[in-house]
Amino acid sequence: MKVFGLPGEIRALVFDMDGTLYTHHGYARFQESSQVARLAQALGASESEAKTALDRAREARRAQGLPRTSMANLFLGFGIDMATIVRWREEKIVPGDWLVTDQRLDAALALLQKRFRLALLTNNPRKVGEASLAALGVAGRFEFVVGLDDNWASKPAREPFLEVCARLGLEPSFCVSIGDREDVDLATALTLGMGAILVDGVEDVYGLPGILIS
Ligand SMILES: [Mg+2]
Repeated sequence: MKVFGLPGEIRALVFDMDGTLYTHHGYARFQESSQVARLAQALGASESEAKTALDRAREARRAQGLPRTSMANLFLGFGIDMATIVRWREEKIVPGDWLVTDQRLDAALALLQKRFRLALLTNNPRKVGEASLAALGVAGRFEFVVGLDDNWASKPAREPFLEVCARLGLEPSFCVSIGDREDVDLATALTLGMGAILVDGVEDVYGLPGILIS
């Protein structure tokens, strides 16, 4: 865990979902491979060719000194529009097939919820985010979910962060973004004046009450 900065007064915590509220490497691999399979179909390529093309796009960004970005943003670069990206994910990603109730997570969120408002900001479609919260048994802890299909932009774009703050009715300087990818979940949040906490996975989230509640 790494705390990049915290507001003087914290009113809301904005959580990422994948790799943050659960840790499941097999599910993470499936999320990418299932979408690469759809990309391959659309490009008329094999899955290994599509995976190579995706890896090359990531490498090209690194070579240009650009930060890492979301898979959705990489898919846009292959000419796949956001509505199609959302549909492919809704078709293939079924959180209930992978995630189970997490009582330690619920207990940690219950403590946080007493002090802060909680929102989920995911780069998956909103429906997938809501189904993930339900599968983890923590849906009641969050006021709302903002997903890829709410403003058709993907973190690290500014829009999703601004959307969450607008729905909370709070300036970014009262909010903290919490996620497992610095470039995607935190860098933009910091430029907007939000606080930012990097987690290694859900184990770190279990410890957040000890850090944020004195
Ligand atoms: Mg994540």
